[in-house]
Amino acid sequence: MELIIGSHVSFKKDDQLVGSVLETISYDANTFMFYTGAPQNTSRVPINSELTKKGLELMKLNNINIKNVVVHAPYIINLANSNNFDFNVRFLKEELERVESLGVDKLVLHPGSHVGVGIDQGIQNIIDSLNVALKDDTKVTICLETMAGKGTELGRNFEEIKRIIDGVELKDKIGVCMDTCHLNDSGYDLSDFDSILNEFDKIIGLKYLKVIHINDSKNEINTHKDRHDNIGIGKIGFDNLIKIIYHDKLKGIPKILETPYVEKNPPYKQEIEMIRNKEFNENLIKDILE
Ligand SMILES: [Zn+2]
Repeated sequence: MELIIGSHVSFKKDDQLVGSVLETISYDANTFMFYTGAPQNTSRVPINSELTKKGLELMKLNNINIKNVVVHAPYIINLANSNNFDFNVRFLKEELERVESLGVDKLVLHPGSHVGVGIDQGIQNIIDSLNVALKDDTKVTICLETMAGKGTELGRNFEEIKRIIDGVELKDKIGVCMDTCHLNDSGYDLSDFDSILNEFDKIIGLKYLKVIHINDSKNEINTHKDRHDNIGIGKIGFDNLIKIIYHDKLKGIPKILETPYVEKNPPYKQEIEMIRNKEFNENLIKDILE
């Protein structure tokens, strides 16, 4: 099976999905992830069905399967904080509709930060929000992302993700997105990824794993920082990331890079090329800048 690899791309109001697909093609990627608007706010333009149609045609011509494409919910949405319950749920419902109208079936969501109400109440708030937002006819899977544990972030470990899933009624509409940088920062040793996968399978179940964010980390294990680094440049390292990307049990799962731009240059074309070659490019940063 062919490696399914792509990156975060932009989704601009003027060309929408068409622009996202063209950017993906420019990276020699075969999948992509985008926010339907700015990640730090919730203002969204209506999805243009003409542009969606054109984007989907362009994808077909370039062998990009819509089943592997991912939308990321804005990180300002905090389901763990019940103060904004009605707003959060309304936004999430609308976002699910936007994602569905684009033909995408995976929405990655940060579980949220409890900001003082405590872990148990925070988890309950997330469960309550998901149970109102998800309906029998929802076609999109909400993929809860594993988090670095910065501040009061929830989803710092598989146990917390499992507790959320346990509370959700419509479990077929819930999945998980693993993020390698977050796993490292929350204390998982990625040099022993087989153990991590076994633990994931035992606690949550591998069938829930739908997306993997592939990022290196600027910080050592267990520092709870969440600062992504370019592939092979950070503390996780190239060999550990390659083992994850090509892991037998993860075939068919889209791998998405969310690594930082280098002086305003996207790193994705060079990183994807290096990943396909399975060999670290000593000149990575230089090549990105060229
Ligand atoms: Zn991520």
